[in-house]
Amino acid sequence: MINENAKTILSVRNLHASVEGTEILKGLNFEVKAGEIHAIMGLNGSGKSTFSKVLAGHPDYTVTAGEVIFQGQDLLALEPHERANSGVFLAFQYPLEIPGVSNRDFLRVAYNAHRKARDEEEIDVFDFDDLIEERSEIVKMDVSFLDRSVNEGFSGGEKKRNEILQMALLQPDLAILDETDSGLDIDALKTVSSGVNQLSTPDNATVLITHYQRLLNYIVPDYVHVMAQGRIVKTGGKELALELESRGYDWIVPEEAVV
Ligand code: ADP
Ligand code: MG
Repeated sequence: MINENAKTILSVRNLHASVEGTEILKGLNFEVKAGEIHAIMGLNGSGKSTFSKVLAGHPDYTVTAGEVIFQGQDLLALEPHERANSGVFLAFQYPLEIPGVSNRDFLRVAYNAHRKARDEEEIDVFDFDDLIEERSEIVKMDVSFLDRSVNEGFSGGEKKRNEILQMALLQPDLAILDETDSGLDIDALKTVSSGVNQLSTPDNATVLITHYQRLLNYIVPDYVHVMAQGRIVKTGGKELALELESRGYDWIVPEEAVV
């Protein structure tokens, strides 16, 4: 929901970032206010995942210029765990598996780390069990998944659901979902979308990175951005996604959008 007077959650100015010496982000500008849902679309290789990983603080990526202000603080000065604890959440395009660590324990440790960062007391095991079982309903996840190793042997769709469960637990101020729709069948897509919609409030913001317009039938964005060659080259409303679906990308900025 757009409210011009809402506070700014994320402000990215002239962001440049490299991986292994190659510049991928080349002057990216992006601004998100509370209550908004943004979609970032673009061809493969345009830098969408790189952008999400730079925001999360992935160590492979080096920021060479620009600034990222998250709720008034310099996000780039924070360590990855500090970013998470301050309310940035990234659902990975390829969620990691953690053999030998139960999903329940992993989620409890993550949740308690967030509480500790806010000077709140750790939740005890029994209260946590009630909480996580309640949150599992948001993504219609069977509680048996809580006692399996994190993402190990999960199908693509189950991993994506598990990412949204993490989000439901941590309730971030800024959630960045990188191709959370990829690999989902229509029922899972509806469940995941319904979870994201339930978690969207006037005080937080969601950034959906997606290849396909399909997701945006279920999670309706306030803004749609097109990324090409490490920059946002066009911004529009939700109708832009439909236009991209029917016309492709090469009409936007032919020399930049076609890789
Ligand atoms: P998108 O998510 O839009 O498909 P990516 O951000 O994944 O794009 O990739 C953008 C470009 O950066 C691609 O050319 C990709 O090969 C390159 N790239 C991304 N991560 C790495 C990495 N860790 N090492 C080398 N190249 C990378
Ligand atoms: Mg990607």
